[in-house]
Amino acid sequence: MPFNEVRKDYLLDRWVVIATGRGRRPTDFAKQQAQPVKAGVCPMCPGNEHMTPPAFLVYLRSDKRVKKSEDKDDQRHKDWLIRAIPNLYPAFSRPQGKVDSKQVCKSRNLAMAVGHHEVLVESPIHDEHPANARITQLVLVINAYVDRLRQLSAKPYVQYVSIFRNHGLEAGASLSHAHSQIIATPFVPTIVKEEMKAAKKFWKEKKKCAFCDIIEKESKGPRLILENSKFAVFTPYASVNPMEFWMFPKNHQTSLLDVREDEAETFAETLKECLGRLKCLVNDPPYNFGFHMTMNKETSDYYHWHLEVYPKLATWAGFEKSTGVYINTMTPETAAESLREASSH
Ligand SMILES: [Zn+2]
Ligand SMILES: [Zn+2]
Ligand SMILES: [Zn+2]
Repeated sequence: MPFNEVRKDYLLDRWVVIATGRGRRPTDFAKQQAQPVKAGVCPMCPGNEHMTPPAFLVYLRSDKRVKKSEDKDDQRHKDWLIRAIPNLYPAFSRPQGKVDSKQVCKSRNLAMAVGHHEVLVESPIHDEHPANARITQLVLVINAYVDRLRQLSAKPYVQYVSIFRNHGLEAGASLSHAHSQIIATPFVPTIVKEEMKAAKKFWKEKKKCAFCDIIEKESKGPRLILENSKFAVFTPYASVNPMEFWMFPKNHQTSLLDVREDEAETFAETLKECLGRLKCLVNDPPYNFGFHMTMNKETSDYYHWHLEVYPKLATWAGFEKSTGVYINTMTPETAAESLREASSH
């Protein structure tokens, strides 16, 4: 019997056993029935705005343009396109008054969870998820990400802004209304920091962005899913999750703040296409996605923003949890082949 491959991530010291023995195909995962989310009154649906705290950002239609506003105390805007609201149970909380770094870092192993935790309601339509969203609406979602990122990253105590999405109960979405979350932290999270460190080393040695190099190689290889004028999407060489894929801007950009207005539409189309294919291929699986980016000028030469999408088709058990080594039962090459050929609707 041939050996399985043990692959290392492009940049991280993270290892994955690509266990091809069972020869699993995407259709093997499609049989799982999505667990229904409990029905009831949805606090994110239009008409229930009073069930949430006041929104600090609301997109409203004004003639043919979009007007930005906010809720005030008891008053809630109706007929909104997008709403950004505070998370009711924030992991990181906004500071009261001015903060300095000493108030955040108490000691070497204790910091205060100062920051922000927000929910972005992506649409007034309950199930307008990216895989089936109108492109015009998805462009508004991207614009709202950029608006919040610009505001939060300017705060002196914020070192990182994580924008992510949980889809489906098994992926941690307790509410099924289309929404994303944004958490601003007073430190740079480990995975991003490790990616930065390795990318810096590569840049020093090769005078080139490691991510630009990865994109160039993957565009010509068996893991490419799709490529257009602005973006490339592929399954990473050492995919931790079955069907995992990453999306990169082809131009060297460091954060979502670099995405130009004319690029947002292609971004929305690319995102919808990939998530649509995943949905069709594996019966709307639960997934998480998260952006990796930098807002730091010092790292802008060698850090390149991207979106990582992690379908939740496997359960991490004893070996993964106790060792940090993962077993992936579908090769990224098989996943890419299926995602290349799949229809998105
Ligand atoms: Zn709803
Ligand atoms: Zn680059
Ligand atoms: Zn990354």
